[in-house]
Amino acid sequence: MSSTSLRLLLLSTSVGAIGSGLGGGVELTLRNLVQALRLKGHAVTIVAPAGSVLDMDVRIEQIPGQLQTTAQTQSREAAIELPANSVLAHMWDYARTVQSDYDALINFAYDWLPFYLTPFFRRPIAHLVSMGSLTDTMDAAIAQVAQNFPGSIGVHSRAQAETFPFAAACRVLGNGFDLSQYEFCARPGNSLAWVGRIAPEKGLEDAIAACQTANRSLKIMGILQDSDYWQQLQQTYPHAPISYEGFLPTAQLQQILGRCCGLLMTPRWVEAFGNVAIEALACGVPVIAYRRGGPAEIVRDGETGWLVEPDSVAGLVSAIARLDKLDRHACRHQAEAEYSIAAMGDRVESWLGDILDTHKANT
Ligand code: UDP
Repeated sequence: MSSTSLRLLLLSTSVGAIGSGLGGGVELTLRNLVQALRLKGHAVTIVAPAGSVLDMDVRIEQIPGQLQTTAQTQSREAAIELPANSVLAHMWDYARTVQSDYDALINFAYDWLPFYLTPFFRRPIAHLVSMGSLTDTMDAAIAQVAQNFPGSIGVHSRAQAETFPFAAACRVLGNGFDLSQYEFCARPGNSLAWVGRIAPEKGLEDAIAACQTANRSLKIMGILQDSDYWQQLQQTYPHAPISYEGFLPTAQLQQILGRCCGLLMTPRWVEAFGNVAIEALACGVPVIAYRRGGPAEIVRDGETGWLVEPDSVAGLVSAIARLDKLDRHACRHQAEAEYSIAAMGDRVESWLGDILDTHKANT
């Protein structure tokens, strides 16, 4: 436990309730961060859209209102949008009124408003940015905070930071996982896994094409975020050996994932981190990923997975044939050594400490 116990207000993403899956990796990241901060003796309260649920006893201030649309579906020139009765606006209005009860706020929303509001708050705001550069307006909003509040921008990987013009100002925090929730499986079956939001930026079609060519079955898990895209995939690959297992809670997800002989990660975009890579490693499942974004920083090529030339289905097929060269114990070992809750807690605590020091020095 650290010498000072902090009171922290965590503001979740406003694109979906926690537990809905619409928030993607942010939902699990927030959950794990609550665990990490509490382990360090800090007190945590969450502010989130109404309907949010977590598998832990923590106060969630449920805020009603209209959800935000996700940034990854927007064009680079897209203007900022706020719907009437915006949940994002309500969440930050709530934070404004209670801020004096807390030492610091942590923002998980990849949205303009929390960045814009930062100078108007009396308490410091730590921004955990969950995606790479997507729109010019967001880049400008984050850049301004990076400049005026040095050290307050946290990211998950170096590759994510490098998508922004202010890469050097980003603090790389990785991520952390409750590894006790993931069971090591030494003897997998023959299937491969693909886990994530079913949406175009995740490139599921390449995983399906590779499994069809390799004649290996593919278990798909994740929320059906873009149903037109999913239908199109089924029409393009009517005979592919795939099964959709649904959007599963961690306990069930890890059971199915753990029995697979490899995880395929085929993102078209610069994946900021890729929580599912660590979830796979924690079960002893090697990761085959395109050599771009977060997964390329996580996977140890030839040891805990294979890194493949981006967008090369042939590369995936050849990596699948080499999966048996990898030791599943090494995968679990890497997750334990680098991505534990305790390790994440250390990194985030020191980040918050620096933000609080800077804030004190400037007030
Ligand atoms: N996930 C889940 N159930 C599923 C499939 C995925 O809970 O059936 C979660 C998974 O645990 C991970 C998130 O969805 O935390 C996906 O996050 P990731 O960082 O891989 O990608 P993002 O969605 O943020 O782009």
